[in-house]
Amino acid sequence: MTAAKEYIESVYQKVELRGPHQKEFLQAVREFFNTIEPAIENNPDYIKWNVLEQMVEPERIITFKIPWMDQAGNVQINKGYRVQFNSANGPYKGGLRFHPTVSESILKFLGFEQTFKNSLTGLPIGGGKGGSDFNPKGKSDADIMRFCQSFMTELYRHIGPQLDVPAGDIGVGGREIGYLYGQYKRLVGPETGVLTGKPVVMNGSLGRTEATGYGLVYYTEEMLQANNKSFSGQKVIVSGSGNVAIYTIEKVHEYGGTVIACSDSNGYIYDENGIDVALLKDIKEVRRERLTSYNKEGSRYIEGSVWDLEVAYDIALPCATQNEIDGEKAEKLIHNGAYCVSEGANMPSTLEAVDLYIENGILYGPAKAANAGGVATSTLEMAQNSAHGHWTMEQVDEKLKQIMVNIFKSVNETCQEYDLGNNYLAGVNITSFVKIADAMIHQGIV
Ligand code: GLU
Repeated sequence: MTAAKEYIESVYQKVELRGPHQKEFLQAVREFFNTIEPAIENNPDYIKWNVLEQMVEPERIITFKIPWMDQAGNVQINKGYRVQFNSANGPYKGGLRFHPTVSESILKFLGFEQTFKNSLTGLPIGGGKGGSDFNPKGKSDADIMRFCQSFMTELYRHIGPQLDVPAGDIGVGGREIGYLYGQYKRLVGPETGVLTGKPVVMNGSLGRTEATGYGLVYYTEEMLQANNKSFSGQKVIVSGSGNVAIYTIEKVHEYGGTVIACSDSNGYIYDENGIDVALLKDIKEVRRERLTSYNKEGSRYIEGSVWDLEVAYDIALPCATQNEIDGEKAEKLIHNGAYCVSEGANMPSTLEAVDLYIENGILYGPAKAANAGGVATSTLEMAQNSAHGHWTMEQVDEKLKQIMVNIFKSVNETCQEYDLGNNYLAGVNITSFVKIADAMIHQGIV
């Protein structure tokens, strides 16, 4: 075993000892550690400064109680968190997730990933993540507002435009960010830059809603073209039907591909002629209904996971949630002919699935790179807010595209530098690892 490998394994064992039950966090660390050995071998400072162990421990985790009264008069208690993972690269930046599965392990994995993702954008932002086990599904606007107000009454003292800037994630969109900001303003004052993903009428950025999905397609197209392929004429499956999925589908269609299926947590729509984005937007964004409302001639609603669908297709874009593709589903999609998997969701593939992509030479866009368009555009929102300015949709979209193209370029350069072929997973992890590690070393032991 090389000294680098020995070091990596010894740090992993410590992480495991400190949190043996945090399985999502352990998974994110394992996947990362499996690829960075060449970078550690290259620079003895990483071992000397024990950079890995410094990196895997969040700088701070804040947990709090969220008491609120629902519209029926019941007292409700939820758990709230903010994980301020790493500030080597700037103020903590990352979304809030409201979902019943939210736990410290989930938020630590998300904060860890966010740190590296944010560094890839080339913008000055550190990594953080937060949220609650609150379930917004089916709740009235009034209940959502009451919950958001109570959540912010605790969170406000830990965030700020130069300190920690939350945004949305699963279960948190413009409506929730609006209520959260309203409460922040009552407590602190009008500091527009404290949250991103704000509705456009309250100093949000044009293009933020579309950014993660559009960015995913820009990144993936760049990777495809580097391999003499393109979205044009390809059959694509997108999982999910939230914000990321909707704008991914819209952009794939613009690029000449056909998205033949999308899903929610119960089932999926199979529509050979291509998902009707206008209808999907109406169901999800206006009516806030489930996919069962998608009634269109030629389409079918099928219960279960979209990754169990047995049809021939070319490109898989998982945009739902963590671990939606396990080893068995990965085998299936490869068997169905998919040659490219690019991730709109965070860590949608298990370790077994990722290993299969690499073994089978799948063109793989890991989430840290492929879905960085959302947070990148959040940072463009911060820039507009601090300049008291406003950019057009075209300006924002152009900058987003450039950022995604640049991310792929730097990943590709790393692949060449380290002789990784098209193992983009290693390329992504090493590129972001080196950025964060070097920034940490320059700052000393802090
Ligand atoms: N939640 C998004 C992500 O996973 C965006 C975070 C942000 O805009 O700060 O990157």
